Amino acid sequence: MKKVEHIGIAVKNLAEAEKRFEKLLGTAPYKRETVESEQVTTSFFHAGESKIELLASTVSGGVIDKFIEKRGEGIHHIAFATGDIYAEIQRLKKEGFILINDKPKKGADNKLVIFVHPKSTGGILVEYCQEIPDENEDVANF
Ligand code: ZN
Repeated sequence: MKKVEHIGIAVKNLAEAEKRFEKLLGTAPYKRETVESEQVTTSFFHAGESKIELLASTVSGGVIDKFIEKRGEGIHHIAFATGDIYAEIQRLKKEGFILINDKPKKGADNKLVIFVHPKSTGGILVEYCQEIPDENEDVANF
């Protein structure tokens, strides 16, 4: 594990949350990205070595809306950067963690991602992510 790559925060209203975080962090978001497969729009802020990822549902009743209904707005997940997501999957399985997806999928911010179920981590949704190499590099390794 390299570092905390980002912290994901569930919000109801992305535009309002962006304004709030812009003031909190003293910097504007550097990108917005919708991940259709997850029904979320994300907004990213630099926070030193790490990032803040705001998450809002693109459809009412989406995953983020459901999370907010249950637990309110706030921290949704913590993401760790890994250099080898496949080795991480094997390691986590061996340690007995429950993976939500045990095949990496493409997440926001050009990353391959897996999620570890909060049931097995004491209530925290944990993401592991690995940068997808540029297209001109050998993607077959992934
Ligand atoms: Zn994330």
